[in-house]
Amino acid sequence: MKSLVIANWKMNPATAREAKKLFEATRKATEGAPHVSLVVAPPPIFFSEIRKSYKGKKIAFAAQNARAEAGGAFTGEISLGEYKDAGASYVIVGHAERRAMGETNEDTGKKVAAALALKMTPVLCVGEMKRGAGGEHFEVVRAQLRAGFAGVEAPHTARVIVVYEPLWTIGADKAMSPRDMHEMAIFIRKSIVDLKGPVGMNIKILYGGSVDGNNAPDMLKNGDVHGLLVGRASEDGIKLASLLEAIEEAA
Ligand code: PEP
Repeated sequence: MKSLVIANWKMNPATAREAKKLFEATRKATEGAPHVSLVVAPPPIFFSEIRKSYKGKKIAFAAQNARAEAGGAFTGEISLGEYKDAGASYVIVGHAERRAMGETNEDTGKKVAAALALKMTPVLCVGEMKRGAGGEHFEVVRAQLRAGFAGVEAPHTARVIVVYEPLWTIGADKAMSPRDMHEMAIFIRKSIVDLKGPVGMNIKILYGGSVDGNNAPDMLKNGDVHGLLVGRASEDGIKLASLLEAIEEAA
């Protein structure tokens, strides 16, 4: 089975020249990785140029964020429709860094529904800001899933990809343990089944947070996940190549 890897470049690199170089290294890395489906999410300013430069089929493209509205007075924002027109087929929704900047659960629900209406794939990120000893994080995740899936008709449930990416594992020293991820994946699946019925069993779940070539194989094998959302290890061509190599070796 192929693993889905989403490369979230965030607000990197600093110049168009470097972005083109990074994309070229990324493209080369995918050539030796038949067991990986790669989605690249470049910064909006570089999106069109990179997308247009790529004629292959192995890599798909994601918006890091987009607005649900079709158009209007939203200075500085980019709509889902505009991204689709530029060649995005995925959109990351509710990334922890955007939630920290004020994106609400309700916003994520609107974006997920709007993306599905445009036949794009929403990648809904869920996860708590911090973890206490009392298991409150399960309630946080359940509320995020309830809001994120609020506008999804049951038959379309499995068109949404869910990423579990708690804020405390992003940009951290180490990833979460595959065992803890496995527990969370079961919880996420059960919550979606509770919301939408048995179709929730088919949902694709990814893990995100400090993924690299050392921890990825174990997470893919034992974390009950279909893939990974990757920040830092995707912003450097060498690190990305070693991540994809590690996934291939373990495949
Ligand atoms: C991310 O922000 O999506 C992420 C997973 O970052 P990192 O891999 O750098 O922890």
